Amino acid sequence: MKTVTILGATGSVGTSTLDLVERAPDQFRVVALTANCDVQRLAAAAIRTRAQRAVVADERCLPALRDALAGSDVTAAGGAAAVCEAAAMGADVTVAAIVGCAGLKPSMAAVEQGGTLALANKEALVSAGEVMKAAVRRSATTLLPVDSEHSAIFQCLDANLANRVSRIILTASGGPFRDRPLAEMRQVTPAQAVSHPNWSMGAKISVDSATMMNKGLELIEAYHLFAVTPDQIEIVVHRQSVVHSMVEYVDGSVLAQLGTPDMRTPIACALAWPDRMVTPGERLDLVRIGRLDFEAPDPERFPALRLAREALLAGGARPAILNASNEIAVAAFLAGRIGYLEIAAIVADTLSRFDPAAPATLDAVLSVDREARALAEERVKERVA
Ligand code: NAD
Ligand code: MG
Repeated sequence: MKTVTILGATGSVGTSTLDLVERAPDQFRVVALTANCDVQRLAAAAIRTRAQRAVVADERCLPALRDALAGSDVTAAGGAAAVCEAAAMGADVTVAAIVGCAGLKPSMAAVEQGGTLALANKEALVSAGEVMKAAVRRSATTLLPVDSEHSAIFQCLDANLANRVSRIILTASGGPFRDRPLAEMRQVTPAQAVSHPNWSMGAKISVDSATMMNKGLELIEAYHLFAVTPDQIEIVVHRQSVVHSMVEYVDGSVLAQLGTPDMRTPIACALAWPDRMVTPGERLDLVRIGRLDFEAPDPERFPALRLAREALLAGGARPAILNASNEIAVAAFLAGRIGYLEIAAIVADTLSRFDPAAPATLDAVLSVDREARALAEERVKERVA
């Protein structure tokens, strides 16, 4: 029996995690569930799973949460600090599934208490890379990837042979615009950008998949999770999303992890590790799929890939600025304030105007994040004006 806390329990990854946990009541017991303000879904899940605590990050939603939990044994709490407290309640596995840098402090709170952090929230690791890794080492936390590509690499990588790895091949679906000419990209709408061909995900990561910034963030995520240099990580477009990523060893042997595009598989891998657990869902039928295609990504149409690689190579505060400005630009695009092609332009512009020292503490990372957001928001306003 493992105890589990889910940060961001009402989102796409959070809901898939709950599905697995609820199907295996003899294997998991829920400690705490958190959401931003999704009161009804949060309360219903907390009551169903008999969670000890349910927490809304937005304090204004606490009265509604209290109402929704009335008559149950679940304790209600609200506010950013309460989310961090929930993250530190001593669960064996904490699933970090909040979207964006908003998940950084709660993820760090989970890291500080030790145990296992199952990380979906890639933005936290991208922004705070070195700071988070130092905390993981200090607290002897087991950091397990939930992102499907990183789960694939983790499964193919023999920890005893880390120094015999020559290359990591990160696969990318290419998103909804992988075949769209640049001239037509100017016109794409938020609705088109969030309709991913292979995966069903939250709005922000769906836009990131469309711009391929998601793969850029995953490049940085892979660098932090695995002992490789940036030039050892290659990105390959693979439109079927069946090969989730690959590891090449020095002898030329390439190991791949395959499966249907269902996040419950990588989530289950992290929940059950070092064991395996049964998951529902379609099994891989290679004969029906028939073929697997691989191609190089197009740097002209997907400038976010170059921006992310440059940020990784430059290091210091650059990845945090890349992430923060991307979050602002994606939110502005989803709100209809800027066009699709302006997302990468705002990220590039913010990176060109702000170059602080490498942040050495969590507070320093959060301060870079805040300043980069403010600068990116100025760029958005200039473009709207
Ligand atoms: P989502 O938008 O569906 O859900 C986000 C969750 O975070 C919700 O529970 C929401 O209430 C909560 N939340 C939002 N803002 C918050 C805030 N300010 N404070 C506290 N909680 C807040 O997102 P998602 O698609 O589930 O993605 C979650 C994370 O997992 C992201 O970092 C994403 O990159 C990563 N990820 C997602 C998928 C996927 O298939 N969806 C795959 C790989 C990685
Ligand atoms: Mg991924």
